[in-house]
Amino acid sequence: MVSTNMEQTMVMSTSILESELNTPAKNCYRLVIFGSSKVGKTSIVKRFLTGEFIEQYTPTIEDFHRKIYKIRGEVYRLDILDTSGNNPFPAMNRLSILTGDAFMLVYTIDNKETFQEVLRIRQQIIDTKRAKGIKSTPMVLAGNKVDRDDFREIDFDDARRAVSSAKRCSCLEVSAKDNINIDCLFHSLFEHARLPAEMTPSQHRKVGGSDNAGPPDLSPKSNPRGITLRKRISDACGVISPNARRPSLRSDLLQVRNNALRSVKRGDINEEEEPAAEGTGFRKKRGCIVQ
Ligand code: GDP
Ligand code: MG
Repeated sequence: MVSTNMEQTMVMSTSILESELNTPAKNCYRLVIFGSSKVGKTSIVKRFLTGEFIEQYTPTIEDFHRKIYKIRGEVYRLDILDTSGNNPFPAMNRLSILTGDAFMLVYTIDNKETFQEVLRIRQQIIDTKRAKGIKSTPMVLAGNKVDRDDFREIDFDDARRAVSSAKRCSCLEVSAKDNINIDCLFHSLFEHARLPAEMTPSQHRKVGGSDNAGPPDLSPKSNPRGITLRKRISDACGVISPNARRPSLRSDLLQVRNNALRSVKRGDINEEEEPAAEGTGFRKKRGCIVQ
């Protein structure tokens, strides 16, 4: 019985991975994770992909992950770029912004400077995208290490206020260590990016190799919208692509061009504008700039 289940899982994961090559461009998304070093970016990604947490710190240069989903008969590809946090090359950061479709900006609630850095990056993303004619970009601010509440330096209300007027941006406090709100964090970003809710870890069946996050969580708290989860997850599954490699810089540059076209299709370009900072030809966004 066990081996039959394992065989089924193997067949399923192979079949999803085979369809990776045929993922329609409109269903390919790149999520870029930014934030100072040691705020927990890699830990959040690890929780999302494998459900694990590792206490030991290993500096990231740049990590690339790919997850393929089959949801309601359609194939989706989610690429995750986990950045270093102190990239000395501004051009590389700019390319990551240009190629990103959605952004997760991570700070720690116990360090004010990391929050200021997140606001700086957020403004940089808004300005860079706007210069390409893209008026709204899906983002979430993640206040990580909420398990360290005793050492708090950033009030949640202040963080929320900083993005309150933004259309496709929200702010959540999370803990990669204690697995608090990680699911909601991704759910919220997928919602802003108009991606299927089933891409959230608790809402699809995980199949294949290292993706050992366990069975879907069917509890009411994992389903904020009260949708009939049992029905939805019946066909939703996802698998981590084992041999995913970061695309070359040339492919990234080509993708920048395609991104503009996809953004038109998704309506990002025509979406109502968020005001931008002074000096970009747009109004300064109140409450979003920390001097
Ligand atoms: P990155 O440099 O932003 O990718 O940060 P890492 O994910 O490598 O984490 C940096 C350090 O913070 C590691 O020692 C992690 O174990 C620790 N860490 C990550 N998330 C949490 C959290 O939610 N709570 C606590 N207390 N520590 C965390
Ligand atoms: Mg890292």
